[in-house]
Amino acid sequence: MRFVEADFLFDGENWLRDVRLEIDETGRIVQSVKAISDTPRHSVVIPGFVNSHSHCFQRAMAGFAEKSFDGKDSFWGWRERMYGLVNSLSAEDFAKICRFFMAENLQCGYTTLVEFHYFHNRADGSAYEPEELLSLNLIHSAKTAGIRFTLLPVLYMMGGFGRTALLEQKPFLMESVKDYLRLFSRLSEKNSPSFLCGMAIHSLRAVTKSALQELVEKRGDLPVPIHIHIAEQELEVTQCQNFYGKRPVEWILDNLPVDERWSLIHATHVSAWELLHMARKNVVAGLCPITEANLGDGLFPLRKWLDLDGSISIGSDSNIRLDPFEELRLLEYGQRLTKKSRCVVADPNCPSTGMRLVRSLYKGSSQSSGFSVGGLKVGDMADFLVLDPSHPSLINPSIDTLWDRLIFSGSREMILNVFVGGEQVVHQGIHSDYKEALKGFSEVLLER
Ligand SMILES: [Zn+2]
Repeated sequence: MRFVEADFLFDGENWLRDVRLEIDETGRIVQSVKAISDTPRHSVVIPGFVNSHSHCFQRAMAGFAEKSFDGKDSFWGWRERMYGLVNSLSAEDFAKICRFFMAENLQCGYTTLVEFHYFHNRADGSAYEPEELLSLNLIHSAKTAGIRFTLLPVLYMMGGFGRTALLEQKPFLMESVKDYLRLFSRLSEKNSPSFLCGMAIHSLRAVTKSALQELVEKRGDLPVPIHIHIAEQELEVTQCQNFYGKRPVEWILDNLPVDERWSLIHATHVSAWELLHMARKNVVAGLCPITEANLGDGLFPLRKWLDLDGSISIGSDSNIRLDPFEELRLLEYGQRLTKKSRCVVADPNCPSTGMRLVRSLYKGSSQSSGFSVGGLKVGDMADFLVLDPSHPSLINPSIDTLWDRLIFSGSREMILNVFVGGEQVVHQGIHSDYKEALKGFSEVLLER
């Protein structure tokens, strides 16, 4: 039996004082009691964050897509550059990126990664041998690094609503739901306490209606998460209205048996009706504030969503920057800038802005990943971060203001030690494989 003791420990809903968690051999918390020992304890312990939406390979283009020569760049221009990257990467490059990315996620406080994986084939569309080679790279890297991992192989079939795929999209394509289910089945054989294979649909524009319905029907009651990019861009909302006669969220709620297993990633452009019915279906709103700002996507109506008791998740998506505190800060700051107001999500029942954000976040963590994570209660996995007590945001902590200080004046540099399933994977801010993995990642960048 292992244990952790802390002066301040956040269990997912509340701060606990002077607490001792006991962890069994499977890495699960089995008891939470008052700490009584005189042994030194940690000052502040919080649950590890779930990075609920990522495209690992895009880490290799962070900062390489910030130029515009005509002043008219948009998400769609960025997408062209992303296609350029994916078509230039070999399987060896991909493996180097994966290895680095897993260690980096852990150092940045993400103890669970949910990878929305649509890079399946070579640039010419031919399959690797085995066909799931890149997925296996991801699984292997996650296991070696010690991060909890949910892999979502993605069904991607078309180039847009009613349009065949572009040549540059060949690395992503699958011909049929049958092919997809074969891949899903092979990857699911690897499920373990730290790995889960879930499902994903790239977007309504990339999959036919009949394929979507077939996939959802064959999936049945399988208790694994399913994610979809839904309404990131206004243009795709308009295209969906022209093609299906409905907005994307509206269409999916009307046509598919959506429930709490679903994460709607980038539910950015939603109507009041869509928001209300998303809440009634208990879906997770998957938000990626840093990437959404970088791509100029728009803003999700966060306050209204929280007032409907909706749960959120955060993801690093394009991986331009990995920092869960910054994701949460930007989530609130976007609202402040548009509403010309402060503490937008705070309310009389929870006047702390930071606390209201993390309560909603931790509710969405298990749903989006399929693991009992995001909190530190009995039954949860012991995935946690020990913060640096000498950081200015942690000096003289108090329950009233701690989350606000962490989110609004803190950063990933506060993270000292990281544990997954009770096992320490980051020591004094450094993952044991980070330096070696960085060498391989540097080689990929130097080729570019
Ligand atoms: Zn994405």
